[in-house]
This record gives sequence, C-alpha cells and structure tokens, in this order.
Amino acid sequence: VSAPKILIVGGGYIGFYTALALKKRLRKGEAVVTLVSPDSYMTYQPFLPEAAAGTLEPRHVVIPLRNVLDKMTVLTAEVTGIDHDRKVAVVRPRKEDPYEVPYDEIVIGVGSVTRTLPVPGLQDFAVGFKTVGEAIYLRNHVLSRLDIAESTRDPERKKRALTFGFVGGGYAGVEALAELQDLASDAIKKYQHISAGELRWVLVEAAPAILTEMAVAAGEYTVEILRKRGIDVYLSTTVDSAEGGIVGLSNGESFPTDTLVWTAGVKADPLTTSLPWETDDRDRLIADEYLRVKGVEAAWTAGDCAAVPDVIKGGICPPTAQHALRQAKRLAKNLVARVRGEDLKEFRYRNLGGLASLGRHKGVASIMGLRVRGLPAWFIARTYHLMMIPTVGRKVRIALDWTIALFFKRDAVQLASLQTPREAIEEAWGPESKDG
Ligand SMILES: Cc1cc2nc3c(=O)[nH]c(=O)nc-3n(C[C@H](O)[C@H](O)[C@H](O)COP(=O)(O)OP(=O)(O)OC[C@H]3O[C@@H](n4cnc5c(N)ncnc54)[C@H](O)[C@@H]3O)c2cc1C
Repeated sequence: VSAPKILIVGGGYIGFYTALALKKRLRKGEAVVTLVSPDSYMTYQPFLPEAAAGTLEPRHVVIPLRNVLDKMTVLTAEVTGIDHDRKVAVVRPRKEDPYEVPYDEIVIGVGSVTRTLPVPGLQDFAVGFKTVGEAIYLRNHVLSRLDIAESTRDPERKKRALTFGFVGGGYAGVEALAELQDLASDAIKKYQHISAGELRWVLVEAAPAILTEMAVAAGEYTVEILRKRGIDVYLSTTVDSAEGGIVGLSNGESFPTDTLVWTAGVKADPLTTSLPWETDDRDRLIADEYLRVKGVEAAWTAGDCAAVPDVIKGGICPPTAQHALRQAKRLAKNLVARVRGEDLKEFRYRNLGGLASLGRHKGVASIMGLRVRGLPAWFIARTYHLMMIPTVGRKVRIALDWTIALFFKRDAVQLASLQTPREAIEEAWGPESKDG
C-alpha cells in the first residue's frame, strides 16, 4: 500500500505550522506531504507593523517555506478548486496552466481576505494591510507624504498629505496606525516646515470597541492611549464615501487625505464558498472540535478560514495567530493519529491574553486579566513574538534589527521608486516610445 498523500492548502500560520509539525512527527515513508501556497514564504503577520515602521527589515518577517519544509514538496501556486469526491485539487501556478494534484487527506488553511464594502471611491485609493508588499508600500507612502508636505507651498495640499486615515480597529489597523504614527513623529524632527500638531491620524471603527480579539478592557484601554497620543478615534462610525480622496464619515464629518488604510473586517478566503460544504456568515468552513471539516471525511480546516468551536469558553475561537498556531499543532497530531488509526483529540486552548505593539517602547497587553501598558507591555509583546517566530535564523535577524534600532536613529528614507522600477528608463526613452 502506498503512503497516504496529504495536501496542505495555504502557507500561512495553519499551513506552515501543520507542515512543520508533520515533518517532526511523521515516520519515514508514513505519508507524502505537499503544500500549495501562492507565496514561497510564510508571513509572520504580527511583525508587519514593525516592518512598515522600519524597525524590522521586511525580509526578516517572512520565513522561506522550502528552507524549513525540506523533504516536502512546496508548490508556489493557488488552489483554484477541489473535487473531494475524486480527491483532486486544481492547482494553478501564477499565469501558468492549471493541473490536478491527487490527495488522500486535505488541510484547508487559506486564511482570510479583507472584507470590501461598496463605499463610493474606496476601490480607487484604499490600501490593505496583510502582506509584506502592503507594509513596504505604506512605509514609503507615509514618508513620501512628509516629503510632499515639506516641499509644497499650498497649505491645503500640505494638510491633505499630513492626514492619515485607517479604517478597522483590529490588530492590523491599530498596530499599523500606531507604528506609522510613531515613525512619522520621529521622521518630522528632520523636517524644517512640519510641526507635530500638523499631522492628523484618524481611526474609524464601525463597532463600539477596538481590538475585540483581546479582552474588552484592553480595547478600552488602547482607545485611551491612542487618544492621549492625539489620534482621533471614532467608534460606532463608518466610512460612507471616499470619492476624490475626501473621506466622509457616518457622523457627518469629512476629511481630505492621500492615505486610507482599509482593514475593516475580514472574511474567509473565497475558496471556502466554492466548496460544497457548510460555511458561516463570514464564509468560514464549519470545523468540528477535532479540526475536521464538519461532516466531511478526510478534510481538515483551521485558522481564519474556519469556524472552530472553543470547547472551553464556548462560541467560536477568535481569528488570531495565537489560536492558529495551537490549532495547527493539534491538527497535525490528529492527522498523524488518523494515518496510524489512533484516536483523535479535541482542540482545547485557554488563551491567557493578548498583546499589541503600539510603536517604539509603547504597547498594551492583557495577561490573565491583568492590564499592562507602555514599556513593559511593549517588552512582553516583543519577547513573546521573538520566541514564537520560527527558526533560529529569523530570531537572530530580528534580535539584531532591534539591537541596531537601540543604538542608531530610525532610518526614515523612502524608496517609493522601488514600486515603479521602469519609470526612469521610460522617461529616458521619452513620450514617443509609449506611442509605439
Ligand atoms: C497586520 C496584522 C497583524 C496581526 N497581529 C496579530 C497579533 O499581534 N497577534 C495575533 O494573535 N494575531 C495577529 N494577527 C492575526 C493573525 O496573523 C491571523 O489570525 C493568522 O495569520 C491566521 O492564520 P491562517 O493560517 O488562518 O491565515 P494566514 O496566515 O493568512 O495564511 C493563509 C495562507 O493561505 C494562502 N492562500 C490563500 N488562498 C489560497 C489558495 N486558494 N490556494 C493556496 N493558498 C492560499 C495565503 O497566501 C496564505 O499563505 C495579525 C494580522 C495582521 C494582518
């Protein structure tokens, strides 16, 4: 009998940590594992805000899949469909022809996508905050707004360049805003014509609270901290329009801006709804307590794309890295148990708290009901993530980035031209070249 084929869809927290745990647990020849993900690396998302702020080198917050998952096949491609009756997945490398990959067991860890809303004008200029590309873009964009503000002679243009809007009060929106505000406050010290009071940072959240992934108190506390830092936090407020870069809020206020970061809610990756299986109102696959797709043989799911029951507190587990990491480990153990014909164990995880970094020496944490803020919270958050980021190589690189940041001033140069590498040569050719 040939070894069972395990196909992992997604190379994020679930995909990566499941594959890593399988690598450690599976005996030689016990199963053949293939992982499919559009990127050749796993993104350690909690570090993206620091990559945007320039405290961490962007390459250091991603883990190359093939470096760690040796002896496994990693396909840099997307799964565009699954025929579970025939046990085949349709795999399509970027811009290449699709083909079928057979499997015996499938793990679906495709994560989430930003929930877009039909707000007029939003599509034209809002940017998300989920990928390294977006983090680098935002860093360059924010710094280039400072350059515009310093160099223009038009006060309205300056005001608009120095207004930064963030929509969504989850980890991504709050941490990105706090880190970028910290970066800009540091950077303007070198500018002659920008004062701290001219920068405006706005956070808009439709719900009455932010950081709902953490304890309620931590969210309230963070609002207090952000407001003390001069950030305008609008709760129970929505963005109703964004036409021409004028952001209109449901409370009647509006502001012109060049920057609108959209992290307002997530829903599961659309692959979930293309499957003939039950999903919830956020398009998440319904998982059982063993991390199997409910009622489906040989299909497993966890993370942001799955509604995983919280057997300790009741309800559904929140979409956090902390949960995804533990779910992946349990999922791998159950998968190995199934291959060996052993009993499965349910996923049980008692979350001890939450952590958020809010800029250099600033943070908020809620640990076993205790609220911690400022330097201690920042230190705890950093230590926790340094412990959690996989591979010794990444840990050392991150620690070195932080050490350098302790001794040297923040590097506040913008390299926005990286995003338009052909501009210079196109200019050299002149306008005629474009006409053909
Ligand atoms: C900026 C930011 C900061 C965060 N900070 C924190 C924090 O401080 N603490 C915390 O606990 N949580 C934090 N989170 C949340 C945490 O990162 C997520 O909960 C976690 O990444 C979920 O893991 P996942 O594997 O389900 O999804 P992901 O890690 O997003 O992985 C999904 C993977 O699936 C791939 N994929 C998607 N579609 C397909 C397809 N069709 N075929 C193949 N592959 C596919 C994607 O490319 C990706 O590799 C943060 C999130 C963000 C965006």
